[in-house]
Formats: sequence, structure tokens, C-alpha cells
Amino acid sequence: MHIDARTLPDGSLLEGDVCIVGAGAAGISLALEWAASSRTVLLLEGGGFQYEPAMQELYRGAIVGLPYYPLQAARLHQFGGTTGHWAGFCSTLDPIDFEKREWVSHSGWPLPRRELDPFYARAQSLLELGPDEYAAADWQRRDPTMVPLPVDPRVMWTKMWQFSPPTRFGTRYRNAIVDARNIHLYTHANVCELEANEAVRAIDGLRIRTLDGKELRARARVYVLACCSIQNARLLLASNRRAAGGLGNAHDNVGRFFMEHIEMPCAHLALARSHARYMKMYALELGTTKARGEMAVSAAVQRERRILNGTVSLEPGGLDETAKSTFEWGTPAMLDSLRAWGERGNPGPPPATSPGSTPAPLSFHLLTRLEQAPNPASRVMLGTERDALGMPRAMLDWRLTDLERRSFRVIYEVVGRELGRIGAGRVQVLDWVRGEGAWPGNLSGGWHHMGTTRMHVSPREGVVDPHCRVHDLANLYVAGASVYPTAGAANPTLTLVAMVLRLSDHLKSTLS
Ligand SMILES: Cc1cc2nc3c(=O)[nH]c(=O)nc-3n(C[C@H](O)[C@H](O)[C@H](O)COP(=O)(O)OP(=O)(O)OC[C@H]3O[C@@H](n4cnc5c(N)ncnc54)[C@H](O)[C@@H]3O)c2cc1C
Repeated sequence: MHIDARTLPDGSLLEGDVCIVGAGAAGISLALEWAASSRTVLLLEGGGFQYEPAMQELYRGAIVGLPYYPLQAARLHQFGGTTGHWAGFCSTLDPIDFEKREWVSHSGWPLPRRELDPFYARAQSLLELGPDEYAAADWQRRDPTMVPLPVDPRVMWTKMWQFSPPTRFGTRYRNAIVDARNIHLYTHANVCELEANEAVRAIDGLRIRTLDGKELRARARVYVLACCSIQNARLLLASNRRAAGGLGNAHDNVGRFFMEHIEMPCAHLALARSHARYMKMYALELGTTKARGEMAVSAAVQRERRILNGTVSLEPGGLDETAKSTFEWGTPAMLDSLRAWGERGNPGPPPATSPGSTPAPLSFHLLTRLEQAPNPASRVMLGTERDALGMPRAMLDWRLTDLERRSFRVIYEVVGRELGRIGAGRVQVLDWVRGEGAWPGNLSGGWHHMGTTRMHVSPREGVVDPHCRVHDLANLYVAGASVYPTAGAANPTLTLVAMVLRLSDHLKSTLS
């Protein structure tokens, strides 16, 4: 059932069993789990079915700290949320991502990776991915021409990715949501405040506003925030009527530990032609490729070298193309030395071309997606300006540490050595990767927002408990990547959907 909140009388009360705030990947996945159940689900979505500039403007916020994408462009404020323009790259987190790593402060999830396995399997179909198979051998079995590079598994491995069509939740699941009689979808219903009871032990209701000036209330037995990392933190912080620092914030953790993936061009690979046959495994043709591999540094090397997790993708590109790229791909000196190396030939076996000629190596850009270490100083706060609904705007202070810089360097040292050792080619690292100190001007995130309501068994160190319930608030939960204690190197959406399915099972057991 769908109702546009603007058509309701001012002061209306909406009632249900479960109230989900936000209808993006997280909110829709959760609501679908409850379709056709005996529970009434309120799904409150701030936007409408289409893009609306006035709605998107509510996302505008300030950037302090490292440069970042404009906040009003980094997320979509409409039914379906940011899946309206996500790219669909999916992979699972690795077991090491869940571990306490003593060289990564604040690392460690309160659950092991294997606990997510059944939920990953269920999440595959919601994201319209292929089989729940993420080992290179699985894909090689399906297609024997997909062969991973013969690297030493103690050093490196091929991490598999799958590609969602990409599923646009707003169009793909609109009918399923609207047709479900027990799901009451309210669009244009922006939640502006969570109202806690007097003891600040539970949520009594939500205040909703529409851009045409109406105020409504929603009431349910349990509430789930599914507005994405920046909005989840913003809502908790702005709900400060009964708790000065905002709800769930007794220990000043809300908004902190904002994490991104740092996605950067890092190096150039001159691949020996003898190894060209391996490239099918790493190739990507958007819209066609179902799965591909990326190179990754083993957990053992991450432990030994005390670095963060990261992956390396291979994107075909020649030197001239590199030079013309809009990215700052490298210095002229780097290009010259690489060109000279190419002209001298490569260390692989003799080429199968005409005698006397030295074939140029094949060229690839190496791009890395690195996890950001959890950092309390990297945070979302409230600004002083208010939006059209009277809510304080978000202010993002994105910060990175030396660990990220060092991890980039070590990853390329390891990858370069190993590819050289197997005769696959030579890796020429861009100057910024070798350097220290300030980040280069082309520093870029992957548009992945994580952290801000991190999960921890202790309320002193986290906002939600291992079941995604806000510590100290009996009936408030959080769904989405804002609960991640660490980011891992995989894009966030597959894991966040898996975590939502896990949360749904938990809620079903508590509400029965
Ligand atoms: C350009 C781009 C490319 C990306 N590519 C990938 C990729 O390849 N792989 C990957 O894994 N991830 C990718 N992502 C990230 C992915 O889009 C997000 O992880 C995912 O959409 C997050 O889902 P969510 O439901 O938590 O948040 P969102 O999708 O942002 O949904 C939040 C919902 O809450 C609503 N809302 C917000 N505030 C309120 C409020 N106060 N009241 C009511 N409703 C509210 C919003 O309108 C929205 O519908 C990409 C993102 C971008 C921007």
C-alpha cells in the first residue's frame, strides 16, 4: 500500500508494528522480508518515486577536513535510495576483516565472517547476482578459460567480484512493496526527530515533516533507521530533546568512525604477452561481465606487514591513454621510464611473433580500493545551518591516517615483486604511492559511506550492539553500512543487505 504523506491531514498518526525509516537498499530489503506477514510495517521514505531537486537539497551539508564529494550528490533522496545510481560491484568481506587486528585500532567485529554466510547467500538474489560463489576456482570451473594469475597464495590471491545488473531497488521492488497489503509505504515522509521516552530507554514515536508544512507522527513497537550512514547519524544527533548529545550518544560515538574506500589509480602494469591469457579472469565489460577477479594481498602478508586490506583491479590502458587520462596518472618521468622499459622488451618467455621483433608489453592501469582504518576523528557532525524542514544540516569531517598511506605503499611493493617473480611483467608505481605526507589532489573515495553508528558489544565503544540495536534504547535498531566496525576492501552493499537479512531474522524472533 502506498500513501503520499502530503495527502494526509496535518497531525495524522501512523501506526504499525515495525517502522522502517528510509527506503533504499537497506529499508526495502528489510520491508520485503516482512511482506505477507501478520505484522504491519510502516516504511517511511523522505523522497518520492522520482528525483526531486527540493528533496535532494535536504542532503546538502558542509565538508570540513579532507575534500569530499558534495553531500547532496553523494546519496539519492528518493524511493530506492542510492541504488538509483550505484554501479553494482559486489563482493563479500574476508574473514580477516572481522578479526581484531592489533595494528588497526578499533578493529574487530563482534561476529565472525562465517555467521554472515547464510545471509550472503540470501542477499545474492535480492541484488540479482549469480551463484553464491566467490572462489576463483568456482568461476574457472564454469569457464576454463578464466585462469587466475599463478601467484603464490601465501602472498597474493585472486578475489572474485560479481556484478549486479545493477539492481535499482526503486524500480525493481516498487510493485512488491506497493502491492504488499501489510507494508504501508509513505513517501515524502521525512523523519526529523526520534522521540525517546522520559527515561530515554525506548523510542515513543517519530516526528515526520513534509515539505509543504505538515507534521505527522509514527508509532510502532520497533523502529529501524535505514537512511544510510550520514543521515542515520544526523537523525540520532538531531534527536536531542531528551539527551543533549543526541540519542545513542552517551559515549560520544554517534557520527564518529565515518569510513570510505579510498579508490585510487596507483600504478601501471606492463604485462608480458606470455601472461595475456590470464587477463580474461580480470576483465570487465560493464553490463556483460558476471564475475571477475581482482588481485589482493593475502591475510598472512597483511598480518606480517601490518597493513589494511585492499584490492587491485586491472584496467586495460596504454601509455598514451594513461598520459591523456583525466586522472593525474603519473609524472612524465614515470611514463618515460616505462616506455623505455617497454621498448627494451619484457622478462617473459620469447614472443610468438615474427623473429627479430620485440613485442611491446600489454598495458594495464592498476587501481586500488583500500579500506579506511576506523578513526574516531573521521566523523559526521551537525552544522549550524538548518534545512527546509528545520533539521540541522550534516557536516562531514573525513580524515585518514598514515596507516592508509603506508598500506598503499606496501601493497604495491608486494604486488610488484610477486608479478615480477612470476614473470608476469613490471609494475611502475605512481609517485604519490611512494610518497608520504599529504594526499594527492586526486584523492577520491568510492562513494561508500560506512561507520557512524558502529557495532560493538560495549556501549563505550559502539553505538549499536551485535544485533544492531542502539545500546540503551530497547526498540531502536540501525540497518545499513553505518553499523560496520571496519570497512574491508569489498564494496559495502552486498554485506549491508546480508546484515539487514540477519537483523530481520532477529526482529522476527523478538516480535513473535
Ligand atoms: C555513484 C555510486 C556508485 C556506487 N557503486 C556501488 C557499487 O558498485 N557497489 C556497492 O556495493 N555500492 C555502491 N555504492 C554504494 C551504494 O549505493 C550504497 O551502499 C547503498 O545504496 C546504501 O543503501 P542504504 O539503503 O543504506 O542507503 P540509501 O540507498 O542511500 O537509502 C537511504 C534511504 O533513506 C531515505 N531517507 C534519508 N533520510 C531520510 C529521512 N530523514 N526520513 C525518511 N527517509 C529518509 C533516502 O531517501 C533513501 O531512500 C555506490 C554509491 C554511489 C553514490
